[in-house]
Amino acid sequence: MEKIVIIGAGLIGATLAFQLARSGRAVTVVEAGLPAAAASGRSFGWINASFALSEAHFALRVAGMAAHERLARAVPGHHRASGCLWWEETGAAFAATADRLDAAGYPVERLTRAGVLAREPALKTPPEEALFFPSEGWVDPAALTRALLAASGARVLAGVSARILVANGRASGVETPLGPIMADQVVIAAGLGAPALLAPLGLNLPMLHRPGLMLRTAPVALRLAHILAAPEQEIRQDNAGRLLAPAAAFHQSDEGGNLADPLGQAEAAMARIGGLLGLSGLWAERVVQAERPVPGDGLPVVGAVPGVAGLWLSVMHSGVTLAAIAAEGLAGEMAGQGVLPELAPFQPARLLQSA
Ligand SMILES: Cc1cc2nc3c(=O)[nH]c(=O)nc-3n(C[C@H](O)[C@H](O)[C@H](O)COP(=O)(O)OP(=O)(O)OC[C@H]3O[C@@H](n4cnc5c(N)ncnc54)[C@H](O)[C@@H]3O)c2cc1C
Repeated sequence: MEKIVIIGAGLIGATLAFQLARSGRAVTVVEAGLPAAAASGRSFGWINASFALSEAHFALRVAGMAAHERLARAVPGHHRASGCLWWEETGAAFAATADRLDAAGYPVERLTRAGVLAREPALKTPPEEALFFPSEGWVDPAALTRALLAASGARVLAGVSARILVANGRASGVETPLGPIMADQVVIAAGLGAPALLAPLGLNLPMLHRPGLMLRTAPVALRLAHILAAPEQEIRQDNAGRLLAPAAAFHQSDEGGNLADPLGQAEAAMARIGGLLGLSGLWAERVVQAERPVPGDGLPVVGAVPGVAGLWLSVMHSGVTLAAIAAEGLAGEMAGQGVLPELAPFQPARLLQSA
């Protein structure tokens, strides 16, 4: 049986482990910390394609949403097809977004204030107009990571840091404090840890610095039907009634917010949420700083590492949206089935430089 080592037990590594194990490979996942303790445990969890940086990125995200539905059939109980109410932009920018998504065939409904209130009666300050994206939704990325690892039957070694072994130009396994683990193929699904794994191989993977701050409130009685993306705040509600929100507005953007005062940021976010939903006395149950794993040009890197046979890379922001399609595509590529068309623009070779 072919042996595969995946470095990293975030959502990207776990989804790939599930995909590979289903196709009969013996998978070991090596995780320096605990599964889903890094970006995947600090994420907003929104699955969407309404935000995209390019046409190719949009097409990949749309494919990612469809792949999530396939994944949800295999591992049910995690994917919430809530839809999203969006009014992050106004005026001409709002109309341009609506037209762009309409033209691309993305499911979009244009709502007036009355339509917004009919969909989300909890809103105390509804916008004049909003877009409804019925096909968007969310998962709890940490819970899904753990479920996928369990369902995969992969061997998971937690608290074990890996270093890549190369013999005769081919990845031969990983070195760990537990000893070497030999493999036919090795996958780097290490998020921010990817550059340090590639550097000893003479390869430089540039990454952007994109800090974030994720707020989770104590449960509230009010119930939200959808993800809300307002100009001042994105919000979703988990199954226990907690509200989750990036404490700096526009969580998809390059701005990390004022991370010098995280608790102040969290208080300010709760004030914005309180205003939108008419809630007072919100309590921050969890405020966590996070770093988004964003490759140097802002786009995913998924595919073969050039120059080292049997070595693969899967690192990206929007990894919640893209985890399932990245896993399907990479598993196919590793099996010699070629590159998925949607992933072709995102091959690592475009970004990796010799150190
Ligand atoms: C604040 C925030 C909000 C976000 N919101 C969204 C969103 O709404 N929608 C969306 O699609 N995406 C979102 N993202 C992005 C998404 O969460 C990430 O793209 C995704 O979680 C990345 O998963 P990963 O498995 O690649 O990385 P990680 O979850 O970071 O996992 C990588 C793992 O690799 C391990 N590792 C690193 N080096 C080694 C080594 N040498 N040996 C062993 N293990 C190693 C680490 O310990 C870590 O556990 C958000 C991210 C953040 C931070």
